[in-house]
Amino acid sequence: MERKIIKIRKHTVEDVRKILKSMDKKTGKSYADLPIKVSARMTRALGGAVCRITRYRMKQKVEALEFKFSRFFLDAYLSDQDFSDIVLHEYSHLYANELHQENVNHDKRYKAVCKQLGIEHMGGYACSQQVGIAFVEAINTYKIKKARG
Ligand SMILES: [Zn+2]
Repeated sequence: MERKIIKIRKHTVEDVRKILKSMDKKTGKSYADLPIKVSARMTRALGGAVCRITRYRMKQKVEALEFKFSRFFLDAYLSDQDFSDIVLHEYSHLYANELHQENVNHDKRYKAVCKQLGIEHMGGYACSQQVGIAFVEAINTYKIKKARG
């Protein structure tokens, strides 16, 4: 039997930017240039993608504005794959919303975009609250470590 060793580590904003850049090459967007905000108060979601929605004469315009990530997400010990999956999940939100000029959440159009971008494992994640058990554990471990100093 072959054993695969998966390395886990903390990640940085630069790691996020690298992932965004590689995706920008596929989409032609420049989301890697958007602000990436990190918040320690963000405890119920690992990440978020924020769009600016404006309306003028019944016409709606949706523009990518910024990324937000929880400090717990960056400081949690995760594999590069798991880390990248979450970043790409958020990336796909911006891309899908701009494409459809609407907040499509996790609907069929969002999933179609993930597929089109060649992002695997996307169906399983809902970014706000409902995250994989591995992430919840990683975050709890981080919180316990931090509380102990
Ligand atoms: Zn999501």
